Amino acid sequence: MKKTVQMYEGKAKKVFATDDPNLVIVSYKDDATALDGLKKGSISGKGAINNRISNYLMQILEKNGIKTHYVKEISENETVVKKVSIVPLEVIVRNISAGHFASRYGVEEGIVFDEPTFELSYKNDDLHDPLLNVSHAIALKLATKEEIAEIRSMALKINEVLKAYFLNLNIKLVDFKLEFGKTSNGEIVLADEISPDTCRFWDAATNEKLDKDRFRRDMGGVEDAYNEMIRRVLGN
Ligand code: ADP
Ligand code: UDP
Repeated sequence: MKKTVQMYEGKAKKVFATDDPNLVIVSYKDDATALDGLKKGSISGKGAINNRISNYLMQILEKNGIKTHYVKEISENETVVKKVSIVPLEVIVRNISAGHFASRYGVEEGIVFDEPTFELSYKNDDLHDPLLNVSHAIALKLATKEEIAEIRSMALKINEVLKAYFLNLNIKLVDFKLEFGKTSNGEIVLADEISPDTCRFWDAATNEKLDKDRFRRDMGGVEDAYNEMIRRVLGN
């Protein structure tokens, strides 16, 4: 399997075609953006850390019966994944109030929910990823009713598996964003990444933030937080 042309360059990753039409290579960058693209920067070592954390978590999820796009890690920053057509929805699951949930609804961060919330945004940079509900997503034909039901059940299962996994590492899984895609045979799989860029992680004892909020909020210690996360996940 050989890397061929670059298909896409996003904010945090590049996607390359390969000589196998069903496989692509994702290459993780150190570039970071926040606040709807207004804030730009770089987090040294982030690409390699996110690549390794995401691959490790996808393999845990596979062992728990969740289908993912993961195929093989081929370098520090690069992974072979199944090529999918991305469902244009950002799927957000929350266990604890933070970020936009707190600001949108006027509550403080840190409220532990009785049950997780399931939230959808339209993945569309021009429209600034507007929040939408299931009937809006169906009306816009972003996915069928059946596909959304499957995505919801996969997202909540992923939450259960990861919440327990991170608690064991003394980390609270506060919230996270997932993307799903359809493979060439129509199967819905978890795609994109699961990393400190796309999740909120709080130390279970101190509530110290160990994720991209340190970059978003200019808190300092950004690289240290990413390094601490890979240390806890991979033990190095
Ligand atoms: P963005 O597009 O938001 O700037 P990234 O920089 O992370 O995000 O770019 C990666 C792109 O690759 C995203 O648009 C994502 O939806 C897409 N993608 C993720 N996994 C796959 C996959 N398995 N097949 C095809 N595209 C994927
Ligand atoms: N998130 C993401 N990409 C986005 C928007 C959100 O990965 O484009 C993640 C974010 O890291 C957090 C969760 O989704 O873990 C919920 O984010 P929120 O809606 O609070 O928005 P944010 O404050 O991150 O913009």
